[in-house]
Amino acid sequence: MNSWAQVYLPPIDSSFNFSALYLKHSSTGQNVALPIKDEYRMYVCGITPYDATHLGHAATYITFDLVNRYLTAMGKKVHFVENVTDVDDPLLERATRDGVDWKDLAQSQIDLFRGDMSDLHIIPPQYFIGAVEAIPLVIDAIQGLQKKNAVYAVDEDLYFTVHSDLKFGSRANLSQEEMLKLSAERGGDPARSGKHDPLDALVWLHERAGEPSWPSILGQGRPGWHIECCAIALSYLPVAHKEEFLIDIQGGGNDLLFPHHEMGAAQATVLKGKEYARLYVHAGLIGLDGEKMSKSLGNLVFLSTLVSEGVDPMAVRLALISEHYSLDRMWSHERLDTAIQFLDRLRLLMSRPEVAPTKTVVQKVIDALSNNLDTPRALEVLREWCDETESGMTGGSAGELSRAIDLLLGIAI
Ligand code: ZN
Repeated sequence: MNSWAQVYLPPIDSSFNFSALYLKHSSTGQNVALPIKDEYRMYVCGITPYDATHLGHAATYITFDLVNRYLTAMGKKVHFVENVTDVDDPLLERATRDGVDWKDLAQSQIDLFRGDMSDLHIIPPQYFIGAVEAIPLVIDAIQGLQKKNAVYAVDEDLYFTVHSDLKFGSRANLSQEEMLKLSAERGGDPARSGKHDPLDALVWLHERAGEPSWPSILGQGRPGWHIECCAIALSYLPVAHKEEFLIDIQGGGNDLLFPHHEMGAAQATVLKGKEYARLYVHAGLIGLDGEKMSKSLGNLVFLSTLVSEGVDPMAVRLALISEHYSLDRMWSHERLDTAIQFLDRLRLLMSRPEVAPTKTVVQKVIDALSNNLDTPRALEVLREWCDETESGMTGGSAGELSRAIDLLLGIAI
């Protein structure tokens, strides 16, 4: 499906030094440097289109946009693919609850999501792929797993044998007990009888009465969620056959690490015979005023609501990066107000004819980002520059700093 509009990326002077980008690898909790090379491959899990775009979504996509921007500013090519799970149980359940056609609900939310991503200045993926359009790829992937004897049927549903991947469990690095618990909470069916292992993952759901399905060599049905991302990533990213890993970064919110990313990685590893992602990177979740933000509590904050109230999406972006991406963190009106004031202050000072020196400021922002996207440190550097400019220091270029903030942080001043 169509992605959203390309984002303008200002140039940056080649005299700045970009060191290797360190990111926190979820499997070990350690910060790991991406090796310096010409091209990177990043897959980020997209939305299930029924509640776009709440601030948790926004925080996740901003995080991987910062990765994309850093590597792009280094002069590297970033292959970036994102999916949309435009047929799945939660979408169908919401459509039934609201008495709307599931396709109309998905389309309206995807349109909203594209607009929100543009408002947030997220660089669009080269490929933005829906589950429905990927069904032929999913069928191919399942057939590939069948050839490796990694698929079996329960009734007429098809399951992936997780232990056909000898490294199953190594990405999320959780105990069996924790995996069983999270599987049950996050769309798995560990209690279903007939499965060889309670964690085995559904790859093809045989048609259910009243639900959409597609004809296939596997029988009439629809794809499972994990195999969808695996098939899209392996088809649309130029997988690195000569490297140790198929792709560089698998990203998403931290509630996707298990089972979703573990399953996708296991399936890809069985299909291709090598480890899937170099790094599994996860963004923290966003709460509201001390509580978890969730559908069930009904306290989701949507970007489009804030924008319709007149809030500048750049202030939302600034507020969301004011704490570290990997932490679960709280949204509040105070946090937004602080960001609005900071943005106003930056804009006002950037319009002065004389500003404090900017070269070292830009380099410090780059250095902060290279250290696992340390945006709080980057913003601290900018606040120091504001103080210096207000105190009358001169010798900088507002244009240089403004372009760097736009390019590296995605905030148009
Ligand atoms: Zn995914």
